[in-house]
Amino acid sequence: MAAVFALLFLMSLLAYPQVQASFVKDAQVAAKSTLRLVSGAVDQAIGKYQPIPGLIADDPIFRDLLHQTGNNGIVPFVNEKLRHIAGSVGASDIYIMDPSGTTVAASNYRDERSFMGNNFAYRPYFYKALAGEATQFHALGTTSGERGFFFSVPILDGISVIGVLALKVTVELFEGAWSGSPLEIIVADPNGVAFLASHDDYRLRSLAPLSDGVRARIAETRQFPLNAVTPIPFSANVIAPSAVEVTLGEVGSEIHYLAESEPLSLSGWHAIVLTPLGPITSQAIYALIVWNLATGAIALAALALIQRRARIFERIRVEQTQRDLLEKMVRERTADLDTANISLRSEVNERKIAEERLRKTQKDLVQAGKLAALGQMSAALSHEINQPLAAVKSYADNAALYIERNRTAEAKANIARISEMTDRMAKISRHLRNFARRPGDKLNAIPVCEVIREAVALMDPQVRKSGSRISFASGQTEHWVLGGRLRLQQVLVNIMTNAIDAMEGQSQKLMDISIDCADETVAIHVRDHGPGLKQDALNQAFEAFFTTKDAGAGMGLGLSISYNIIEDFGGKLTASNHPDGGGIFTVELRRAPAEDLPLIQVAAQ
Ligand code: ADP
Repeated sequence: MAAVFALLFLMSLLAYPQVQASFVKDAQVAAKSTLRLVSGAVDQAIGKYQPIPGLIADDPIFRDLLHQTGNNGIVPFVNEKLRHIAGSVGASDIYIMDPSGTTVAASNYRDERSFMGNNFAYRPYFYKALAGEATQFHALGTTSGERGFFFSVPILDGISVIGVLALKVTVELFEGAWSGSPLEIIVADPNGVAFLASHDDYRLRSLAPLSDGVRARIAETRQFPLNAVTPIPFSANVIAPSAVEVTLGEVGSEIHYLAESEPLSLSGWHAIVLTPLGPITSQAIYALIVWNLATGAIALAALALIQRRARIFERIRVEQTQRDLLEKMVRERTADLDTANISLRSEVNERKIAEERLRKTQKDLVQAGKLAALGQMSAALSHEINQPLAAVKSYADNAALYIERNRTAEAKANIARISEMTDRMAKISRHLRNFARRPGDKLNAIPVCEVIREAVALMDPQVRKSGSRISFASGQTEHWVLGGRLRLQQVLVNIMTNAIDAMEGQSQKLMDISIDCADETVAIHVRDHGPGLKQDALNQAFEAFFTTKDAGAGMGLGLSISYNIIEDFGGKLTASNHPDGGGIFTVELRRAPAEDLPLIQVAAQ
């Protein structure tokens, strides 16, 4: 920051001469136009008055006046005439001198300081005019004490000069117009005397010391009082091409000016305009200060902008770094996730394989469970089948005896019993075959009551052996549900087998089978009068290999398989305890849609 200002300061120092020169130039232009006005005004005034004396002098009345010297009768008339002409041309005085230089008529005849009777023989404008030359002169009036331009012409009578007519114009008028201007205006005569000056201190003083000859001529013509014509403390100095510096005033209180001068049309005269350099310098300095401030402000703004941009870039860089970091982290995380995903996928696959294996194992176990149940039943079944077989044998033996003895009626009755027995055995065998078969997956409409009755029939040997009873009020109406006939039988056989096991040792060995119907479902309740399910059995009865039975007595598969079968049907298998004791197993099945029912059944409904 300090460096910026130091640089600006240095630049200002370097630029100062140029800036000042530019202001000097402007001032010169202004001074020149003032100069033109000044010289124009003076030239115009002189040009205006110059021909007037010649025009006036032609009047024969002046000849009359000069010829009748000593006869004053015409004088008042001439005086008045001159006064009148002076008033109309704007001259301060018009007067006539006889060949001795004595004023014989004057426009100012009425004034206290009238020229009447005054002798101006010493004035060049007199003696030159008397020599026949129209003349112009400038001087401080000896009578009036006023500076003036004098224009004179000879008054002729034929070819002889009989007198001189002079016209005087005062110069105060010009200076009045210049007062109030900060410029110094000087109009100097050929001797370098400031005949006109805006500053009264400089009036009638010389720009340079006058030579003795000049001084002698001034004294001789009484042009100016010599003691007043002192040199102005003045020195000139060229400060630039076509620019002159002028110093006025004594040492210590001098003032520097820029000088411009121009010759007037009057030979040897010059108009000079002095412009004070102080304000020009101040203006240049002021302009540089303003330039400095403006440039400084711009530099500061630029600096602030640059810093701001730098900050923004820094922020963007930091944000970019953070973003990169974040992206890296996200990439790493994503990689972790990918790895996790891959391992999860492989786990899912493993699970699927495991599930597949489990399903297969479960299917195998279902089969195994069925085989186990078959094994359990086989003892009872062999008894069931052996008994009718023994009966069939004895009926057949008896029938043969009755036929020998021609007792055909008894023989017939025995054969009928044999037929009944074989029917019964065929029925048992059919059930066994169905039970052992692996069921298909297809769901059919099956009659609930009929299936329960078939299961009960299958259980008959066990029921009887255990000394239990089954009560099942099937009612008149059949209910059709979705499922597999044999698989539902298998489930019911399982539940009933468990119930018989549970009621072992109980006084009342009764199993109640009932049906509950709802709009969409049909529920089969199998209630026993055993001790009911213990808490762990309530929680885990449907889990594979859960059993509370002795080793060899149960494998813990029956309910698990049953549960899955019912689930395959889209139904539910649940276990609970009856409030009055004993367990309840409920198989809830979906009703079969009407279009699945056999035609005959639909017709019956
Ligand atoms: P298992 O009969 O081979 O033990 P299940 O899966 O058929 O296998 O039965 C599992 C267990 O559920 C039985 O061991 C028994 O503890 C319990 N359970 C089943 N039915 C009943 C019931 N009616 N009363 C009490 N407990 C029962």
